[in-house]
Amino acid sequence: MAKQYSRFPIRPGIITPRRVIQLIFLFITLFIGIKFYAFVAQLEAGTVISIERPPGVEAFLPISALVSLKYFLVTGIFNQVHPSALVLFLVICSTALVFKKGFCSWICPLGLLSDVLAKLHGLVFKKKRQVPQWMDLILRGIKYAIVGFFIWGIFIKMPVDALGQFIQSPYNRFADVKMLEFFTHISSTAFISILVLTGLSLVIPHFWCRYLCPYGALLSLLGVLSMGKINRNSQNCINCKKCEAVCPAKIQITREIKINSLECSTCLRCVYACPQKDAIGFSLQGFSMNPKRIAFALITLFAVGIITAKQTGYWQNNTSVQEYRQYLIGNQMPQTVPRTMPKGMDPEKIRRMTEMMKKMKPQLNKTL
Ligand code: SF4
Ligand code: SF4
Repeated sequence: MAKQYSRFPIRPGIITPRRVIQLIFLFITLFIGIKFYAFVAQLEAGTVISIERPPGVEAFLPISALVSLKYFLVTGIFNQVHPSALVLFLVICSTALVFKKGFCSWICPLGLLSDVLAKLHGLVFKKKRQVPQWMDLILRGIKYAIVGFFIWGIFIKMPVDALGQFIQSPYNRFADVKMLEFFTHISSTAFISILVLTGLSLVIPHFWCRYLCPYGALLSLLGVLSMGKINRNSQNCINCKKCEAVCPAKIQITREIKINSLECSTCLRCVYACPQKDAIGFSLQGFSMNPKRIAFALITLFAVGIITAKQTGYWQNNTSVQEYRQYLIGNQMPQTVPRTMPKGMDPEKIRRMTEMMKKMKPQLNKTL
């Protein structure tokens, strides 16, 4: 039976293990962002590169990771253009097989921002704003539609040749730099969109996570297979519904014994709110997991994934500093694309791909 956590020594709501993990990952994300910014700045300045490109930046390239995943499943080739994108994608997906959408509430910096905005919502509005149930249901479908579109487009529609071409294309190869440019040279449309989404998440708590995030939707779907779940013991439960009052996913906890809802993010708010001993808790195949154990398990999953990738040579990408510099300063794609011949690709395909990229070059120069 799941254990009671109300005697957990750190006061819930102030600094819980979940908050500690969120802050650690926020710090890591900021560190990676600043380091990558400095790397690109050195490239642009044409100075000697003393800062290494942080591979963790590829965590923000989920489309590239999805394409790489299909390419790997079809060809058996783990491409070296953005290997850490695929490694981190697989690690994040593996968290869903243990902790459902736990990545969203324990690790993702946007989840933390969402939590902060939800807290602000409580301060700004006296009464909690709720979306009508029918509208909530429709809006929740949006994120599944977005992720469905990407899965259909990549896993069903894209032939293997197109996957290889996309992976080796300058668009994908320098996607990390483009992503940085998106923020450093943000367009007014993008800026206004971010402001609107932030405003919506302030008025309707967790708006982005609940209705729009495709990554969260993918983890929700994978979470169906999760080995861990929130469990309620109906013998000890007094039906006070305090757990439901704090659940950000609006799950009707008292109607279930095992929380199978796609929306459960293993945030443990329900566990902290419960006044009854042994009435609700998270358990993994019958093994009770307190917040510290969950934190430890999540860190371990990331550490094992990253260390394995480093040891096996699937962490750093194979794009040289010279190619990055050429792309940035000359605003040109590398002269020899692909630079190295991927295993399993025949020379004729490489020649056709190079020809195609040469044709794309004037268009790319215009766009960039
Ligand atoms: S409060 Fe409980 S049921 Fe609701 S999302 Fe968090 S862990 Fe899941
Ligand atoms: S807070 Fe605890 S006792 Fe109250 S309804 Fe939820 S599980 Fe039952």
